[in-house]
Amino acid sequence: MVEISDLYELDLNMLRKFIIDNNVKKLLLQAPDGLKPLLHELVWFMKKNFPEVKLIISGEPWYGSCMLRSDEIDTMGVDAVVHVGHNRYPWLYKDLPIPVLYMPAYYSGEPSDKLVNEIIQTIYGKNIGLVASIQYIRYLSRLAVHLNRRGYIVHIGEPSNPWMEKGQVLGCEYSAALNIRGKTKTFIVVSGGKFHALGLSLVLRNHLVYGLDPHRERIWNASKYSEKILKIRYYKIYELLKKDIHRIALITSPTLGQYRLKLLNYLESLLDKHRLQYLVFSISTIDRERIASIDNAFSPDAFVITSCPRLPIDDLSDYHKPVITPGELIMVLKKELGEYMFPW
Ligand code: SF4
Repeated sequence: MVEISDLYELDLNMLRKFIIDNNVKKLLLQAPDGLKPLLHELVWFMKKNFPEVKLIISGEPWYGSCMLRSDEIDTMGVDAVVHVGHNRYPWLYKDLPIPVLYMPAYYSGEPSDKLVNEIIQTIYGKNIGLVASIQYIRYLSRLAVHLNRRGYIVHIGEPSNPWMEKGQVLGCEYSAALNIRGKTKTFIVVSGGKFHALGLSLVLRNHLVYGLDPHRERIWNASKYSEKILKIRYYKIYELLKKDIHRIALITSPTLGQYRLKLLNYLESLLDKHRLQYLVFSISTIDRERIASIDNAFSPDAFVITSCPRLPIDDLSDYHKPVITPGELIMVLKKELGEYMFPW
């Protein structure tokens, strides 16, 4: 059986240097759920090389490094954090008060000939833009070599943010693709699942976007899928347009990367201008249960998520009341079904 640690490359020398340089005594380890098994390797490494360092493993889901929180650090009294699986969130508005090591885990797989043939049979044109989520950035370079050999012109864009790697996208940040959008009409997004490819297809609606899942070795048409998602999103907006809205719940987050104060203030000023009532709620991990608890207590007409713009689209789109993004709220206030605004 293949172990997850065989599939990902972790730079343990980076960890050794971090522990020594920061004279770490108590360390908090974080990883998204899918990569938590990799923490075994880190724990083993630490026990062998730094047995005196106390370890605490965070059981939080860690969907992104946007979710860093200072309360966990304060309460646990740790003096450093190792965050596995992501690099620094580009809009982290405030640094943590202690050193943080971001340790990406790079997928070590190689694109098979079968997959490359499938790509060639599926996509249109010889000019392709490639982007990936952080785990697949090295895989992306290997894929580019295979496609170059088959006569394809491959573009990998630089993101606008210095914290991100070449070709990297997040669920809410696609500048690596946007910066090369004039060079190609076709993009492949390398990432597990549908999340990142759907995001790019919502941003670049005049391009053809494909998702490539390197684990399943499958390429799929994300642009087609986004049409279905857009219909749902426009339906939510339409539902609100035909209704008399009285009260909005603005949802923010106490996590350092997702507390978007300027956005929150902007939406508050818009709602004031439209003489609409609103209340602001703070939730660190937003899910259906938390939304339902606010619904039961305050019964707003709609929920606007100002923290992660993907939650209304990916997780809460079937809630019985509209859970919408800030961009969707703006469309509701303008009373028009205009150009879809994504991510915010
Ligand atoms: S999409 Fe959401 S979870 Fe992902 S980086 Fe952006 S804010 Fe964080």
